[in-house]
Amino acid sequence: MLSGRGLVKRYGRQHALAGVDIDIHTGEVLAIVGPSGSGKTSLLHVLAGILRAEEGQISLAGQRIDRLSETRRSELRRTEFGFVFQQGLLVMELTAEENVALPLLLGGSSRPEAISSARDWLGRLGLAGKERRRPGELSGGEAQRVAIARAIAHRPKVIFADEPTGALDTRTGHATVGALIDSAASTGAAVIIVTHDRELAAGLPRTVSIRDGRIEPARDTAVPVA
Ligand code: ADP
Ligand code: MG
Repeated sequence: MLSGRGLVKRYGRQHALAGVDIDIHTGEVLAIVGPSGSGKTSLLHVLAGILRAEEGQISLAGQRIDRLSETRRSELRRTEFGFVFQQGLLVMELTAEENVALPLLLGGSSRPEAISSARDWLGRLGLAGKERRRPGELSGGEAQRVAIARAIAHRPKVIFADEPTGALDTRTGHATVGALIDSAASTGAAVIIVTHDRELAAGLPRTVSIRDGRIEPARDTAVPVA
């Protein structure tokens, strides 16, 4: 459903991606693991169209997306993709429900629709009663659940999560990823999770290891799709 072929990304003479092929199927949950500096974030950003690769092709549902204009790519990111970062990157001045409603409003929903959907998602993520709190009034795990609600409320095809547990303790981190996966399963979104946490990755259906900008083939634990 989302696939990259021959992806090369350079920073000067440094190869962040040295020719990566990857396929993500509809609704699939995938961990990307690898040492610091191995190219995980670059791969996520290239697949999501945040960064442009120097070489290679990316397609979404059979359509090439790597050569779209910046305007079309940002539209695609807004409609088809959701993002969860290490720090939630919530807007500190807005309440939880306003943070979640924001992408819906940008997508053309009316304010009542957007707020109602935001409250629904916050409830599903265990945050009922906390909709009017600002990020500073939430725990790290709660704030990350707000970020998950924000990433999924517009029903994207793919959710990209870059070290989403990086700022959380192990138990909260694992519960947060569980909430992300359950939410995605309910909408059919695929989830790509970059993580340092081998134990977390081991609990996911598929792990891809990356080192020096290359996928380590033996480590791709995908069950072959018939
Ligand atoms: P990871 O997320 O696995 O830690 P990154 O994708 O962030 O790795 O980085 C891969 C390589 O590219 C590293 O060597 C890093 O130093 C380099 N790199 C990443 N971003 C930049 C940048 N903006 N400018 C220069 N080099 C960068
Ligand atoms: Mg990174």
